[in-house]
Amino acid sequence: MEAEDPSPLHRFVVAKHSIGSIFDQLLEFVRTGSVFVDEAVQNQDLGPVAVEEHSLEMQSCAAKLAAIREVLLRRHMKVAFFGRTSNGKSTVINAMLRERVLPSGIGHTTNCFLSVEGTDDHEAYLTTEASDHRRSVSTVNQLAHALHMDPRLDSGSLVRVFWPKSRCTLLRDDLVLMDSPGTDVTLELDSWIDKFCLDADVFVLVGNAESTLMNTEKLFFHKVSERISKPNIFILHNRWDASVTEPDYIDQVRKQHMDRCVSFLSEELGVVGPEEAAGRIFFVSAKEVLSSRTQRTQGMPETGEAGGAMAEGFHDRLREFHLFERTFEEFISHSAVRTKFEQHTARAWQITEAIKAVMDAINIASADRKICCLEEREEQRDRLDFVRGQMSRLSDNVKDRIRTLTDEVAAKVAMALLDQIQSLPVLVEEFRADFSPTPETLQLYKSKLVQHVEERLVGCLAHRCSLSIFRDIREAQKHMIDSVRPLVSLSVQQQLSTPSSSFEMTYDLTLAALCADFRENIDFQFSLGWTALVTRFIGATNAKRALSGGERGLKVSSLSGGKGFLMKQPAQRMLLCPQEGPAFKDEVLVSVATGLVSVTSRASMVVLVIGGVVWRSVGWRVIALSISLYGLLYLYERLTWTDATKERALKKQFTEYAALRLRAVVSVTSSSCSQQVYKELTATFNRLTQRVDLSEAELEGSIRQLTSRIQKLEKTQRKSKAFRNRATELEAQLEAFSARYLQVD
Ligand code: GDP
Repeated sequence: MEAEDPSPLHRFVVAKHSIGSIFDQLLEFVRTGSVFVDEAVQNQDLGPVAVEEHSLEMQSCAAKLAAIREVLLRRHMKVAFFGRTSNGKSTVINAMLRERVLPSGIGHTTNCFLSVEGTDDHEAYLTTEASDHRRSVSTVNQLAHALHMDPRLDSGSLVRVFWPKSRCTLLRDDLVLMDSPGTDVTLELDSWIDKFCLDADVFVLVGNAESTLMNTEKLFFHKVSERISKPNIFILHNRWDASVTEPDYIDQVRKQHMDRCVSFLSEELGVVGPEEAAGRIFFVSAKEVLSSRTQRTQGMPETGEAGGAMAEGFHDRLREFHLFERTFEEFISHSAVRTKFEQHTARAWQITEAIKAVMDAINIASADRKICCLEEREEQRDRLDFVRGQMSRLSDNVKDRIRTLTDEVAAKVAMALLDQIQSLPVLVEEFRADFSPTPETLQLYKSKLVQHVEERLVGCLAHRCSLSIFRDIREAQKHMIDSVRPLVSLSVQQQLSTPSSSFEMTYDLTLAALCADFRENIDFQFSLGWTALVTRFIGATNAKRALSGGERGLKVSSLSGGKGFLMKQPAQRMLLCPQEGPAFKDEVLVSVATGLVSVTSRASMVVLVIGGVVWRSVGWRVIALSISLYGLLYLYERLTWTDATKERALKKQFTEYAALRLRAVVSVTSSSCSQQVYKELTATFNRLTQRVDLSEAELEGSIRQLTSRIQKLEKTQRKSKAFRNRATELEAQLEAFSARYLQVD
């Protein structure tokens, strides 16, 4: 009975599935890896972590893998049957397929090669080299007819017969059986081999038990072993049933065949050792096997011949055929797995190594770049801290310097102004303009005078202070710029200008406003007149007050020549200035009275005594003389009270007034100047601070950029490592595959 163990051929199918799955994973892996590498190449921001070559390498790996995957999918085990015509090649194939698939017994139908492979279709069909058109051949007769009738089938071309897998278990396991036209019918052995034999895993030489191996058969295998290193060759001595007719010689014949074939395989071809060679040689009857198997399929009792009795030695031959099949299946599956997948496993390994090299290169490059970026970021952070620290120190230092400088400027301007106030009389004196006591001319004269004095004052101040202050400012600005220069970036450094030369100090004395209240007094005043006397008696302050309070009254009194005004004045003042309060009047009166009383009290007695003595001794003449002298003096003073005198008086009054007012605004003016210096320097420093801020912002931006770059590099590093690990994982799978299927037992 034939065993129903799972076919050893199945090992090939499992191995193919297994390596296919590894290749699927490899393809997916290399595709995602390629995308990753392309991104790394395109991402210039990361620097040169991946180059074009890496990308090309990945693409080449992907292309190679895809090509191998394609080839893998088409991989099958191939057994090629050779031998002379009518040795029973087709019958052996049919016996193995357990069905009459190929026509037999009519000589080889054509000079074509016929391959039989499985199809998932339920209908058998064939295709030729000339046409992919599927021709239905559901029976062996149809096939024979098709082969006979087709004029396009050239000698040595391939006809592929697709037989439903559902009808034949052998074909389910990716086995292709190829029948050849017969080594005796061709002279084109070389082209046959090149075309059909290079991918064959096993060669089966179907010999005839009735004759020895022919030279053409031997020649063929010599040529095969020249092209293929150690081809796997089985030798079937078919038609062994025919030997039964001579039972006496059967063992002898068998031994002869065996010896010759062993010698051929081991010595002539040298493809196997002598012991191993014996295991490759079988004595069978394909016809009996086929007949028995078809009968069994049809549910009939198994006999060697269809419808006949069981021939002698049938079971032995059946067993031997079965042994051949088992050995062949074991052999072809192991051999085919090795020859078909070993190379691809090695290629896959090379590809994973290449990918690992790419990933390693990216990993190392991104690690290097990361270190550079980290160092650069550290440097920039240090620099930022340094710049901030320096700026805070510089800011304090600059504030101090500005404070000192502005104090100095204030002092300088104040001193210069005080000096100028001292020399105010000279400035006023040198003023020349038309003078006339009429109110309009006077007003014009005064405004010109104010203008002149202001111009001269400002000119002198500028002459004394501006240059040195400007120098100080320039120096302070230069110091600021020099201190800031090393704190800013190169690009900002170029924007740092030299200190501005546009600064000009303005000395705004506002003299016109200061002197707006100036009221000159250029009316004639007799030195022994009312005003003079009042001043003498009650002091300048009270006199002024009294006089200014009762100006009109005073004018009246002065016009009246100053005589008898002592009695008249209070009344007039009362009349002319009813709005003045009684307190003021009382005050004046009290002052006058007190003055008079004090004079009286001191000299009244003397005057009375002297007056009485004089009156008695000199009489009225002296009195008249005194009055005349008083009158003459008045006349003299009145005549010398000219415009020039008036101008002098005005200038003098103005000088005093202006000096007084200017003294009051010395501190305001000087602080205004120092304020200008403060503003100029502060503005300069603010501009510089802005530049430093710009530079700091540049640094901060750069640090941020570096941080993001570091993160990206870390990600790239992680990913490249993950890809590398995945490659190692796939290599482990390849190794496991190799250990399981490829290593020689
Ligand atoms: P091929 O030309 O090598 O393909 O040979 P075929 O398979 O066509 O067989 C030629 C003839 O030999 C056919 O008539 C077969 O029936 C016959 N034949 C094949 N195998 C055997 C066998 O084992 N014993 C006997 N007696 N005849 C066989």
